[in-house]
Amino acid sequence: MDVDVVIGGGGVAGAVTALALQQLGYQTLVVEPGLNDDRRLAGELLHPPGVAGLAELGVLDALTRHPAIPVKGFCVLDADDPKQIRLPYDAVRAHSTPGLSLEHKLIRQRLMQAAKDRPLVKFVENARVTHVDQSDRSHVTVQVTGPETATQYRCQFLVAADGASSAIRRFAGIGVRNRRIATIFGYRVPISALPDRDYGLVLIGGRTPVLIYPINESEARIMFDIPYDADRKPTSEDCLKLVASLPSSVRREIEPVIATQPQMSAVIHEVAAQQLTSGRVVLVGDAAVTCHPLTATGMTLCITDALLLRDAIADRRHDVRQALELHRQRRRWRQVTRLSLAETLRDVFCSGDENLRIVRRGVLRYWRSSSGPPASLALLSTADGRLLALIREFATVLMHSLVGELSRWKQARKRQNWALGESLYGLASVLAHQLRQIRGKCRLVS
Ligand SMILES: Cc1cc2nc3c(=O)[nH]c(=O)nc-3n(C[C@H](O)[C@H](O)[C@H](O)COP(=O)(O)OP(=O)(O)OC[C@H]3O[C@@H](n4cnc5c(N)ncnc54)[C@H](O)[C@@H]3O)c2cc1C
Repeated sequence: MDVDVVIGGGGVAGAVTALALQQLGYQTLVVEPGLNDDRRLAGELLHPPGVAGLAELGVLDALTRHPAIPVKGFCVLDADDPKQIRLPYDAVRAHSTPGLSLEHKLIRQRLMQAAKDRPLVKFVENARVTHVDQSDRSHVTVQVTGPETATQYRCQFLVAADGASSAIRRFAGIGVRNRRIATIFGYRVPISALPDRDYGLVLIGGRTPVLIYPINESEARIMFDIPYDADRKPTSEDCLKLVASLPSSVRREIEPVIATQPQMSAVIHEVAAQQLTSGRVVLVGDAAVTCHPLTATGMTLCITDALLLRDAIADRRHDVRQALELHRQRRRWRQVTRLSLAETLRDVFCSGDENLRIVRRGVLRYWRSSSGPPASLALLSTADGRLLALIREFATVLMHSLVGELSRWKQARKRQNWALGESLYGLASVLAHQLRQIRGKCRLVS
């Protein structure tokens, strides 16, 4: 072998996979063509399991340096109710640290530098993977093309960490299902837009939720989610419409920013590879699965995936094919849970459908109870990746929705039994729809 492992892509997924594999004594070659990060809108918030994973990889100090800031959890502010809901990370027993927030460009640079500093990791920059040959079962041959030369490397396995539009996935013959969902616009706003600087803020009440979280001591990022519409191009006007539904204190900070600041935007797709591995090729990070960033789980899963790959190789005593299969089995359900949760939350918080509005009130009611925040946050942060836990949570939310509807019915001056019956029927159909949706995600990730 020329090298033990070739990793195509030096973003978050590629760097953390190199860091994890070198802990087993594997020599890795990371191939990175280079990316202009300055105007790229991508992940900046890591949930506690991601932060704990960075500690396990020995890079937490590098990542927590100034201007990174700890995040203690989320506040949810509903336009119809002035009382904030607080979802603190430390409500979840499995969380051993706070979350972490830092500009995406710095996260990438710091992880890449940490990987470069390891003696077993070599970087080839200004080059990309351009061909994959698996005709010999004993190894995989990877062609790496730079500005002037193309070089072939024989290795034990190839990690595709080249993002959502992965070319390596195609070279390995893996198909993909791709669905465009939204465009997200992002701006920097003064940190004073956040009522509590230690917490991210989710503002609901408009057509879609607006997310604000700190990115350094003086600034926060605000993200606007504009659902995909084939007939029109989203613009900053759409953001201004969403701002109109926000509390006046937040609006004052944000309106001038939208008018003057160059926006950053990202087109959001749900992408799921039809297989997570093929022979000696394994997909990680966005190359494997990408979903709507509402749950902010992409980078945390890049880190978890890297640790799971390391552990699967150690468990299968370095038999690569068996290890990749074990890795596939161990991560599959997490990905199904993540995809289902992101879509369910988006349905509940973005749909104008009356039945889903009832469920939205049920979610908020549940989060105001003492048991809601720990169970929901464990799912959101990926500390709990069990699909059954998601189904149980959804059933609990429906119970809270039902109780809420009953009390509204009791308090109504004129009780209309047919309206209550309609709500019950609506909740049952939402449950059926969500179960069908979960079944679809199970088929999507294999
Ligand atoms: C608006 C937005 C907000 C988000 N917010 C969050 C958040 O708050 N928290 C969170 O955890 N996640 C978030 N995410 C998701 C997160 O950004 C991604 O999951 C994560 O960055 C994926 O990293 P990656 O390394 O898999 O892919 P990428 O970052 O896309 O990196 C892929 C790399 O592969 C390289 N490459 C491309 N082609 C080749 C080739 N042929 N050969 C070799 N290399 C190649 C590219 O140059 C690039 O460096 C967000 C995403 C978006 C769009």
